[in-house]
Amino acid sequence: MSIKINQDKCIGCRKCIEACPGNLIKLDNKKAFIKRERDCWGCTSCLKECKAQAIEFYLGADVGGRGTILTFKEEGLIKHWIFSKGEKEIRTIDINSLESNKY
Ligand code: SF4
Ligand code: SF4
Repeated sequence: MSIKINQDKCIGCRKCIEACPGNLIKLDNKKAFIKRERDCWGCTSCLKECKAQAIEFYLGADVGGRGTILTFKEEGLIKHWIFSKGEKEIRTIDINSLESNKY
């Protein structure tokens, strides 16, 4: 598991840097990058903070991901967790923030 930051989408807001508990993300020339991908333990905090959708999360084969990429999008109270393989979206999990602590 690790993340990849799309620097074309990154707007340099620093939210991911503040969110990462391991201090793994840095900024260079107003673009975020992860210094050592292998140190990422996949907490997804950075993913949730990035409003530019610049961060992709790679689900490794060890958790059944086999190249599946997870991205995050927020629309009002609805949070979308989107699983894709290649260009194809294979599954989306939608969570309403008002109901996230219901169970
Ligand atoms: S949160 Fe997203 S847009 Fe902001 S610095 Fe990080 S990768 Fe770039
Ligand atoms: S997934 Fe978690 S540990 Fe990995 S870079 Fe993002 S915030 Fe840091």
